Amino acid sequence: MLGATGLVGQRLVSLIEAHPWFELTALAASPASSGRAYGEAVRWCLTESLPARVAALEVEAVSPELGARVVFSALDAEVAGPIERGLAAAGAWVFSNAASHRMHPAVPLLLGEVNADHLALVERQDFGPGAIVSNPNCTTAGLVLALAPLAEVAGLRRVQLVTLQARSGAGQAGGGGLRLSDNLLPHIAGEEEKIECETARILGDCDGERVRPHALALSATCNRVAVPDGHTLCVSVELERPASAAELIEAWDGFSGEPQALGLPTAPRHPTRYDAADDAPQPALHAELDGGMRTTVGRLRPCAVLDWKFTALTHNTLRGAAGGALLGAELAVARGLVPVD
Ligand code: NAP
Repeated sequence: MLGATGLVGQRLVSLIEAHPWFELTALAASPASSGRAYGEAVRWCLTESLPARVAALEVEAVSPELGARVVFSALDAEVAGPIERGLAAAGAWVFSNAASHRMHPAVPLLLGEVNADHLALVERQDFGPGAIVSNPNCTTAGLVLALAPLAEVAGLRRVQLVTLQARSGAGQAGGGGLRLSDNLLPHIAGEEEKIECETARILGDCDGERVRPHALALSATCNRVAVPDGHTLCVSVELERPASAAELIEAWDGFSGEPQALGLPTAPRHPTRYDAADDAPQPALHAELDGGMRTTVGRLRPCAVLDWKFTALTHNTLRGAAGGALLGAELAVARGLVPVD
């Protein structure tokens, strides 16, 4: 685990410690944390308690000598790039939450239920004997889980997105410094551009050599709000073919992919689900459903500008980060890509 002391790192530590396939062997973070016991270095923010075994582990400095075959990275993007490439060169399979390699042509930008076939791109990588697989941006993950079922039944032409993103999306350092009480911040640096590029890439076609991005037009506007966890997305869509509300709801409720077919440990039963209540979805009520891996959609209604509009909600540090990366690793293992004993 790289970046084990951060908000995403803590989620990963908690998930991996309880995982049936992976064993947590090394925790690494910045020089300020390395050399200290994890329980002292971390400012633990989760409601579940920190397992005593993990609290006693010494935080290590980040290095290619960590010795793990699977590495989860929750590093700041400013430092992640060379570190993740160094580990792949040393033979590790790196599952990364950082933005550093998301748009690299040979790195799968993986959302398990939507584009498992993009894993074929690892054959094109020249990082060394290991590989790098990237997790999408947290908002992108929720948006694509809401859009992919619609793309399947009716095609997508144009999408208008306004987000209300949780404080935890800014990380431990960033989140603490934001003035969010009685306030809203109408700017998240780089977020709109990431969502627009990443969505087209994940929904794009992969021929095994490269990804041809989806041709949809997407315009995103992002806001930070004083919600602890869970990004809310207000979405309007123009479809390629007419579809009724019942068809769209059926598409969301019936949506599943390879993680469900394979019965992977972190696969949610319902990756996307429609809730017909007038006031759904809400971060406090819906973000943690299905282990925080479900995108809940609600408020479907006709749009006077495009065809339909709706609201979607996704847990940013679970589906949008730690849980998504773990699901990607499970998929790579289940497909026989990661060497295991
Ligand atoms: P965070 O809370 O700020 O944690 C950052 C982690 O990186 C900490 O463990 C920190 O260690 C470590 N780190 C910082 N500088 C380092 C260095 N020079 N060498 C080694 N380790 C270093 O951030 P986060 O929210 O967990 O996000 C982690 C990554 O996931 C980021 O790339 C972020 O963009 C991405 N992401 C976040 C979310 C989310 O909802 N938060 C969602 C999707 C993706 P110390 O504690 O020792 O400083």
